[in-house]
Amino acid sequence: MATRDFTELPFFAPEHRDLRKRAATIAKDATRLIDHHDIDSSCRTLVKAFAKQGLLNFSVPETRHDVRSLCLIRESMAYEDGLADFAFAMQGLGSGPIVLFGNEDQKSRWLPQVASGDALAAFAISEPDAGSDVAALTCTASPDGNEHFRLSGEKTWISNGGIADLYVVFARTGEAPGAKGLSAFLVPADAAGLTVAERIEVIAPHPLARLTFEDVRVPASAMIGKPGDGFRIAMSVLDVFRSTVGAAALGFARRALDESVNRSAERRLFGAPMAELQMVQGHIADMAVDVDAAALLVYRAAWTKDMGAARVTREAAMAKLFATDRAQDVIDRAVQLHGGDGVRRGHIVESLYREIRALRIYEGASDVQKVVIARQVMGVK
Ligand SMILES: Cc1cc2nc3c(=O)[nH]c(=O)nc-3n(C[C@H](O)[C@H](O)[C@H](O)COP(=O)(O)OP(=O)(O)OC[C@H]3O[C@@H](n4cnc5c(N)ncnc54)[C@H](O)[C@@H]3O)c2cc1C
Repeated sequence: MATRDFTELPFFAPEHRDLRKRAATIAKDATRLIDHHDIDSSCRTLVKAFAKQGLLNFSVPETRHDVRSLCLIRESMAYEDGLADFAFAMQGLGSGPIVLFGNEDQKSRWLPQVASGDALAAFAISEPDAGSDVAALTCTASPDGNEHFRLSGEKTWISNGGIADLYVVFARTGEAPGAKGLSAFLVPADAAGLTVAERIEVIAPHPLARLTFEDVRVPASAMIGKPGDGFRIAMSVLDVFRSTVGAAALGFARRALDESVNRSAERRLFGAPMAELQMVQGHIADMAVDVDAAALLVYRAAWTKDMGAARVTREAAMAKLFATDRAQDVIDRAVQLHGGDGVRRGHIVESLYREIRALRIYEGASDVQKVVIARQVMGVK
């Protein structure tokens, strides 16, 4: 392996070094469970396997997430296969609102099922006209007597959509205009009126759907936190998981670098190993610097959160922005160094090229991260 073991950095404790080795082995084994032509059942199988190996205890902890562990696992999974990373990550993102803000009843009803892989979880906030602008969302939850709410509207781009057993749905309850008038609800997939309206196909296939809610009746006890807490809940969950998106990007980039180093050593060009060409060395050097710098930002953000920071908005935004953008460039260089093989369907660097792209869009597009960072740096709202 050409890339470094980042657990040697002072951000980590000895148990992280063990976890990294274990996660790398589990991730490698997981590739045998994946059929890219049947992503739905592959995700179910992967989640079950991760539960059996105890990995979901990290994504669905009883009290708080250890973000460094989440990042190490995502980095290891992404190194091997984007779908393995996706299946692991979604159990955490989907259950995050319950772990962080759920009451005891909500926790005891759902968390054991998610941690055992019996229930797949999803986080449903985006809408056709409210992606980056979360405060514009229009899905409503209206009181139906004192004991129930009725949800009406649409959600789109929902990861695990179509295979999830549980959706955490963010809807407008109207306590105040914009972001302050949202609440979070637990909605089982079999709730009457909830329909998977469309399965969405993307360049790196993952289960993804558009959902419609037609008068979906849920008990008031399905609300997570208090009325009007929805935006705060969503942002707190993203505060944990944003750095882990950077970690997944780091895993993809690390794989691209390793593949490129191997390729340069094996491939002969003009009578000598390609690795002897200085322009090739220039690419490798740039890739290695990006990988190491991304690791430092990702694990700084994770460490800062684990050390008890209430929010790591600045650190997590920097980690996600830098790691995903630079991974795109690292992988593009890997494609270049692989020549025609780089764009051959089914080649590892071809799949990395497709896998990385969405990470610069979801959980806050790169442009949005820049706005967040600038506001933090300048101290403006
Ligand atoms: C593969 C995938 C998985 C997803 N999974 C989920 C999920 O599980 N749950 C969920 O709720 N959502 C999910 N999403 C939705 C995702 O969060 C949104 O796509 C994202 O927030 C962008 O919203 P949008 O697509 O509506 O684009 P828009 O909001 O229309 O933004 C388009 C572009 O405008 C630019 N832009 C936006 N805001 C600014 C700004 N302030 N300043 C400068 N430029 C800006 C950015 O370049 C952005 O990419 C997923 C999306 C993808 C692609």
